[in-house]
Amino acid sequence: MTVARVNAKGARRWLSGHPWIYRTDVVERPLMEAGAVLVHDQRGKPLGWALWSPQSEISLRLLDRDPDASIDQAWWDERIASAIARRTPLEDHTNAFRLIHGEGDGCPSLICDHYDAWLVVQFMSAGLERFREEIVTALRSLVVPDGVLARNDVPLRSKEGLPRETVLLHGDVPREIEVHEYGVRYVAAPWTGQKTGAFLDQRENRHFVGTVARGRALDCFSYHGSFALHLARKATHVTALDSSGPALQRAADNAERNSLTNISFVEANAFDFLREKEREGTTFDTIVLDPPAFAKTRAAVPGALRGYKDINLRAMRLLAPGGLLYTASCSFHLSKPLFLEMLQEAAADSGRRISIRAITGQPIDHPEVLTIPETGYIKGALLEMMD
Ligand code: SAH
Repeated sequence: MTVARVNAKGARRWLSGHPWIYRTDVVERPLMEAGAVLVHDQRGKPLGWALWSPQSEISLRLLDRDPDASIDQAWWDERIASAIARRTPLEDHTNAFRLIHGEGDGCPSLICDHYDAWLVVQFMSAGLERFREEIVTALRSLVVPDGVLARNDVPLRSKEGLPRETVLLHGDVPREIEVHEYGVRYVAAPWTGQKTGAFLDQRENRHFVGTVARGRALDCFSYHGSFALHLARKATHVTALDSSGPALQRAADNAERNSLTNISFVEANAFDFLREKEREGTTFDTIVLDPPAFAKTRAAVPGALRGYKDINLRAMRLLAPGGLLYTASCSFHLSKPLFLEMLQEAAADSGRRISIRAITGQPIDHPEVLTIPETGYIKGALLEMMD
């Protein structure tokens, strides 16, 4: 029995454009190890091929609606080639971008980021893990990288019954890679940095905010200085703040790499810092808030909203007349409407007139598919203080 049979609810998920079928909707489990499996509906009609993860809550991830497809080397070559083709416009602006955004590129649970001559991958399901060789072969022939590193140290892998590890899959990958994005240079740390070594998902927003920045600027949650470096090209002075000393050390190195001398670095808790500046009566002309995900689960949303509102309200109070606030959230569980509602409440409490200059989202290398909400998580807004 190498077929998975799903109930009507499971079949409907694929019809509505979502690739996941949960364990509870699989009425007959295939008697096979993780890998690709043909899926039938309850009446025995073939629905297509899926990745099968025996231990996961997400049992099936749709690969191909064609029951006659063979999920072989040629299949992966074609799927990955079409993902790569979507990124071509970015190559003029940067040497670091996401090559494969999982479900967003029709490659469920697969992440691949391109850093200059190297690739960093993440295999996030047991079904996908079975195709490691085909995927690395496809990447090697299509990209010809000097090395491929698997950052398979993500907690999600435990839910799939997979080991958490960072392993080299091909060639060699350096500890540090210089990234350029829209004329700014910084160092990514593929082996040890957050995600696959850097936050590529905010690239376009960093560039965008960099073009409008001015005056005295503040980059809260700066990490290795990503927004600060862009701000510093237009602003007179930038304060780059983070609670992590090592991240700030790298931010300082990055500033030097760009010959930027107008950035100062502050190791502090952003909540405390904003409160203190408010007490002091300090103002800023440009502020960036790009915090980590405050809501890691659905249950955490109410508490997270209080946190988001707190920092946004305080940042609004610190803005000089005409000042700009770029604010973002990367919590998947905080929807766009909730994010905007939170900003509206913060603006109301600030007692000031604040307009929306732009609403921003994800760049083209992180495609957000309308029928797959999980492919989208970043929302941002550029706000202007009207008073
Ligand atoms: N803006 C960055 C990404 C920020 S990631 C970019 O575009 O690359 C979030 C950062 O927030 C991390 O560097 C983390 O160290 C920092 N951080 C987390 N909690 C914090 C807090 N309470 N105060 C200040 N920084 C914090």
